[in-house]
Amino acid sequence: MAATAFLIAPTTPPDYFRIISPTLSLPTDPQISTPVGLLACQRDPLLRAIETSVVTAYVSRPPPPQPTAGKKAKKAVLAPELPNEPLLHVLLHDTVIFPEGGGQPTDTGLIETTADGSAWEVVQAKRHGGHAVHYVKVPNGIDADTALLAFQPGAKVTVSLGEKGYERRYDHMSMHTSQHLLSALLETRLDLPTLSWSLTGYPNPCYVEVPRGMTQEEISSIQAEANRLVFEGRKVHVEVEELDSPQEQARPVQKLESGRSVGKGLPEDYTGGVKRVVVIDGVDRNP
Ligand SMILES: [Zn+2]
Repeated sequence: MAATAFLIAPTTPPDYFRIISPTLSLPTDPQISTPVGLLACQRDPLLRAIETSVVTAYVSRPPPPQPTAGKKAKKAVLAPELPNEPLLHVLLHDTVIFPEGGGQPTDTGLIETTADGSAWEVVQAKRHGGHAVHYVKVPNGIDADTALLAFQPGAKVTVSLGEKGYERRYDHMSMHTSQHLLSALLETRLDLPTLSWSLTGYPNPCYVEVPRGMTQEEISSIQAEANRLVFEGRKVHVEVEELDSPQEQARPVQKLESGRSVGKGLPEDYTGGVKRVVVIDGVDRNP
C-alpha cells in the first residue's frame, strides 16, 4: 500500500510562550506599547494579523544628504533600503511585525487603519528603547502631516504581515532556530563555539563562523544529528523573564575586532526590560 502524508497547517503550541517571572505580565492598557520580548509575533510566531490600536505616531524626515568623505559609509547589512522621503514612525499597542534585532532582520507588512479602511505599507520595524516602531511609507500625493492624521493615539488598526511578509519572516525564523540548533551541536559535540553568524533572506546564504575548518566527517556527523533532532520533532519554546539586575542590563557583549557580537548574550542594542531564552528540548538554551 502506498504511504500517504497529510500536511496540516502548523499551529503554535499553547505552551510555546512562557512568562516565568511572577512580576512580568502583558500590558492590557491600550495606551501602553507591549515591550519587545512580549510582542504578539514573539508569543505566537505563526500569527499573521491582529487588531490593535495606535499608541503614538510622528513624522520622521530623512536627514539632509551627507557629503561622502572619501571612505564609503558602512551600510547596515540587514536593513532594507529606506526611501529617501518622510516616513511615519508608528508605535502600536502590540504587533505581529517583528522589529529587527538579535540578528534577525526586520519584518515587513501592512497597517490597515480601521476608520478609513486604508492600507499602509510598513517598510521596516526597529526597536526604539525596547519598543517596536513601525516605519510606515507615506503614499504618493499625500503629505506626511496629513497622513499622520490617520494615526491618532487610540485609532483602531489591523496590523498584518501579508503574504510576502509572512514568507519572508517564515524563512528568517526557520533559519534562526536552525542556527541555534547548529551552534549548540557544534559547541557541545566538537567544542566549536560560534564566533559570528549571519541571517539573511533566501536566496542569500546564511552562515555560522567557527574558529577552524571542519573535516568532512565532522560536517556529516553534525548534519546527521541536526536532521535527526528535527525529524524527532524536538519541541521549541520560549521563556521570558525580567532582566534581574541593572548589571545584567548593562553587561556588554564581547565583540570581535570586526565589530560583530560574539557568543551567547543579549544583543548590544537591546534596551528592553525583558530577557528571552529560546529552549530546544534537550539540546539548547539560548538568548
Ligand atoms: Zn537567536
